[in-house]
Amino acid sequence: MSFNERTYIMVKPDGVQRGLVGKIIARFEERGFKLIALKLVQATEEHLEKHYADLKGKPFFPGLVKYMASGPVVGMVWQGLDAVKTGRAMLGATNPLASVPGTIRGDYALSVGRNICHGSDAVESAEKEIALWFPEGVAQYTQAQESWIFSDN
Ligand code: GDP
Ligand code: MG
Repeated sequence: MSFNERTYIMVKPDGVQRGLVGKIIARFEERGFKLIALKLVQATEEHLEKHYADLKGKPFFPGLVKYMASGPVVGMVWQGLDAVKTGRAMLGATNPLASVPGTIRGDYALSVGRNICHGSDAVESAEKEIALWFPEGVAQYTQAQESWIFSDN
């Protein structure tokens, strides 16, 4: 856990189609995280197979890659205290039926195969995903509100 922890959050094709991009961005902004990268991209199946390499072999893997390539996604990097764990908490459980209301999946999704957003599950995978989706690098800047969000004690 660190003040500068980074996580990769991605609105999946169903989230983009359903017009939920702004709502998902707003949740991370309002929580206090800093946006340091953002783009809308139509990913190739090859790229998505790299992103989900750990799941290769699962029965749902081919369908997952097709779903993720079925339209553009919005990839972003958010930075702040405990960003990975808090980002996962904001997303809710993988299966939206188990996601509590108040979480993104718990408010906007019903099915595990259409769960509208991705969030890194560990600091190490976050850094891998950031390098995969943003090889050009991310922004570095100071936000004026930082001292109102973080304390040093
Ligand atoms: P996440 O980290 O919460 O996104 O979950 P995983 O890394 O375990 O799985 C990646 C994605 O694969 C999930 O977000 C779902 O979109 C999909 N997925 C996981 N389990 C299943 C499943 O049992 N069936 C289907 N159809 N999709 C699944
Ligand atoms: Mg995962």
